[in-house]
Formats: sequence, structure tokens, C-alpha cells
Amino acid sequence: WASGKLQVFETMESEVRSYIRSFPTKFRRASGYRMWDTEGKEYVDFFSGAGALNYGHNPPEMKRLLIQYLQEDGISHSLDMATEAKERFLLRFGETILRPRGLDYKVMFPGPTGANSVESALKLARKATGRQTVMSFTNAFHGMTLGALAVTGNKFKRKGAGVPLHHTVTFPYDGYMGPSVNTLTYIENFLEDSGSGISLPAAVILETLQGEGGLQAASGPWLRGLANLCKRHGILMIVDDVQMGCGRTGTFFSFEPFGMEPDIVCLSKSIGGYGLPMALTLLKPELDLWEPGEHNGTFRGNNLAFVAAAEALSYWENDRFAKAIARKGEQLRSALLSLADRFGGEVRGRGLMQGIALEPGLAEKVCAAAFERGLVIETSGTDSEVVKVMPPLVIDPEGLDEGLAILRSSMQQVVE
Ligand code: PMP
Repeated sequence: WASGKLQVFETMESEVRSYIRSFPTKFRRASGYRMWDTEGKEYVDFFSGAGALNYGHNPPEMKRLLIQYLQEDGISHSLDMATEAKERFLLRFGETILRPRGLDYKVMFPGPTGANSVESALKLARKATGRQTVMSFTNAFHGMTLGALAVTGNKFKRKGAGVPLHHTVTFPYDGYMGPSVNTLTYIENFLEDSGSGISLPAAVILETLQGEGGLQAASGPWLRGLANLCKRHGILMIVDDVQMGCGRTGTFFSFEPFGMEPDIVCLSKSIGGYGLPMALTLLKPELDLWEPGEHNGTFRGNNLAFVAAAEALSYWENDRFAKAIARKGEQLRSALLSLADRFGGEVRGRGLMQGIALEPGLAEKVCAAAFERGLVIETSGTDSEVVKVMPPLVIDPEGLDEGLAILRSSMQQVVE
């Protein structure tokens, strides 16, 4: 472990310190849920590029279409210009994702990253309501730019900006105050009590399951209660589905099982299909308020991403993919429960976004031991207390078992 780390540092010593160096090797190639380093060592991927590779590494049909597009001199960069590739993506997104779910959204390309989508959502909510503050939650993660960081409930990350960030108010997420306290009551009282001195916020931004914040999940009743509260007070609801969207929790949008219809939805990571940078901001038609040019950017039209992203939507043309995710989610659940039984810990999450919360300090050691044994896996949580299992959604049950067996032996090594 130590010598591997040193070797990578020596060859890449110009890299800044802020990169997390959890994977001390040099990677060369990848396919599906497998990766290989330059020494030829094989790894199972339980990390999926932090959620950008739901469809696996180099999915064959997307790869073929990308190569064909390049061979035909397809437009690669186009800002906001209309292109065939963009139109095809938009049509397919409407047909495959929005229409079958009865959802009415306009689609904006806010820039290439998740943080770009979050920024556009925050900015638009302020413009639409004429209000200044945004409500966010403990342990939330929304990105590293100033606005997104201001709604990120993580002290360490916020320290990166040096000084306090403004115009946000952080509330306790569902479960934050223990199982017997409904934090929604607290939020309601706070917002509706003139003594609190708070002015009504423009928006609330949240994840339905906190990907970076330790896999805390909000319950259906809590989410619906929050949506009602927002409606009563003209507060816009922004769901950040950057990590939980594109099928990660078992449905295309993470909020589908709860019957919600947020005003704004942020998507990125796996929306690009092939791991290519791409983001969407979905907005209710009445929020289409920006004049042409009022919110723009150079990288809002990566046509290679559109080509892959349009093809990725094929997975959602029927319910087979969602059903397979549910089955593998069950398989993962029972394996994690058996680990918790044997080694202690609490199983969290849903779909193919699950993990096990361990005693302080253990999860990082487990992930390091697993990496040595050929499993790429990361922690989640403000104190890195959760071992987070996030394989490509296309993994087969055998691959899932293979990775889980490595996880089991790594836990045995570290915990016992
Ligand atoms: N929102 C959520 C929920 C995320 O998980 C992330 C990235 N981990 C972001 C926003 C930011 O995305 P990006 O890193 O592409 O800016």
C-alpha cells in the first residue's frame, strides 16, 4: 500500500495536494465493471467514477456510435447551437424519460458538471422568487463552486472556501436529530414562527438519499411533507439527482417512488452515458425565465456526450433494466446485512447505492485493504464512516458476488 502510493507520487509529483489519493496505482483500461492497471492487475469496480459510469466502462454500443460519429466528422463542440446530436438526445429524453412518467419539464444544459447544474438551479430560484436565501440540509453535498458549496452541509469542504458563505440556512435532514424527532416539525415551526426572524427562502435543495453524506435517506412522508411546506410558502423545491439519478436507486429519478414533482431537478454524472462531462437542469415550464444570453457558457454543447447520452436512454425503453437493478439491489442488501451480522455496522441506502456504516476509522481501512485485493471502492460520510458500494448498474450478479467476497475478506482482515 505504502510503496504503491509512493510510486504514483513520484511519477505525478506536479499534481496538487487536494486530490484524494485513495487508489495508489496507475490505471490503463477498463471494460464493464472491470479495470486494469499498468501492471496488468485486475480490479472489480464498486466506485463507478463516483456515479458517472452507471452503464459501465466503455459500453460497446455507445463506443461504436462515438467512433462512427468521429469518423463522419460530426460536430464536436457547439455551445448553444442546434445540432443533430443534441436534437436526437432531447427527443429521446422526452420520449423515454419525461413522457412515460407524466413529467413536464423544460431541459437546460447548464454546463458540463453537476456543480454547474446546481448553480443554475440556485440562481434561477432566486430570480424566479425574488428571494435571497436557500434552505439546505445537514450532510448534504452539492458541489465545490461557491454557490453549491454554500448549500453543502460539510464543514471540511466549506473550509476550502476559507471564509463563511452567505445566503443559505442549513436545516436538520430527516433522521438527523435521532429516530424520535421529526425534523420537518422543527423546520415548519422555524419557518412559520415570526420570532425566528427568518425571511422565507427562494428554494430548498436536497438529495433524497445523501450520496456523499453517509447514505442517509429521507422517508417518503418526510419528503412529501417538505414538498407541501414548500407549496404553502412559495418555496421552490430543487432535487439534486446528480448522483442518485439515472437509475442509481432503482428508478430513473430518485424521487419517483415518492410521487413528488420537484420544480427543478439537477442531473449530471451518468447522464453523459460514457463518463463524458454533461449536465442537465430540468425546470417547470413557468421557470423558463432567462432571456437569451442571460445564463450561458462555452461548454454547453458537447455533442460526443449527446451521442452517448441518447444511446444510454435505450436502457430505459422498458422496465427490464429497473427490474434488474432491483434484483441486484436485493442481492447487495442481503450480503451487506450478513456482513453487519458478522462484523457489526449499519446497512444504509437503496438500489445499487448501499453501504455499511462502521466504527470511526474502520471504513477507510476496509477500503484500502479491499483495493489491495483488487476492489475499487470508496467511503462516504462526513467522517468517512461508511463503506459505499456503488458498482456500475450493468454489473452481473456474479460480478457483484465477486466484489462482495473481496469486501468480506477485507472486513475480516481489518475488523477481526
Ligand atoms: N451534487 C451531488 C449530489 C453530487 O454527488 C455531486 C458530485 N459528487 C455534485 C453535485 C457535484 O458534481 P460535480 O462534481 O460534477 O460538480
